[in-house]
Amino acid sequence: MTVPILEVIDLHAAYGRIEVLRGVDLAVPKGAVMALLGPNGAGKSTLVKVISGQKAATSGDIHLAGVHVKGAKPDDLARVGLCTIPEGRSVFPNLTVEENLRLMSYAGVPAPAVLDTAFSYFPRLHERRRQLAGTLSGGEQQMLAMSRALASDPALLLLDELSMGLAPLIVDELYDTVARIAESGVSILCIEQFARTALRVSDYAAVMSNGRIVASGEPGEILATMADVILGGAA
Ligand code: ATP
Repeated sequence: MTVPILEVIDLHAAYGRIEVLRGVDLAVPKGAVMALLGPNGAGKSTLVKVISGQKAATSGDIHLAGVHVKGAKPDDLARVGLCTIPEGRSVFPNLTVEENLRLMSYAGVPAPAVLDTAFSYFPRLHERRRQLAGTLSGGEQQMLAMSRALASDPALLLLDELSMGLAPLIVDELYDTVARIAESGVSILCIEQFARTALRVSDYAAVMSNGRIVASGEPGEILATMADVILGGAA
């Protein structure tokens, strides 16, 4: 078996004395798209924060591409190939689309290549390249956030609630692009409320509840057996 791109082993984390991650075990195979689903408050965003070095774990282990990374700083994680798009996007509102993209050339990829990749995945960003990012629609901002992430040539893309505040049609469109990004060889872990949409483009799914992974498997199997848990909110 090849080494998973991400392996989380018996991970625990707490806010004060309240334990929120209570022994999370999760493995994302290299090259796969995995959906991480579950009800509000299950601990999904906390897991993203711990994996991406924004919050300390109390115990357990995290391996990224076979490298032990628990406790690593976000910039070290970026060097190992992790790129996170947090909930609520991450663009500079007072810079244009093109300036937002050009900034990513500091990550080591030449600006023309960054722009080419962004505009080939999202032609709409090309039309709006001179517009201030803060005036883009929510969907367009998410496209820009994804383009900035791609500029760092990630091995694993961690997407936290790509759909936040967006219309279902736009969410569908974004997930079509997630599938194309995956085809280019990037592994993806997506945390998502729109379970059906995420499952449509996923190879695997895991369900989190009360700080633990309570089911994992193929999307069809998860939809059939865990519908009551994962379709509780938006479907
Ligand atoms: P959602 O889908 O609603 O975003 P989630 O599965 O991502 O939920 P988390 O945001 O990880 O869940 O929250 C898990 C638990 O931790 C919740 O009970 C939440 O209230 C609590 N929590 C989250 N952030 C903090 C914080 N900064 N301080 C204290 N408790 C927190």
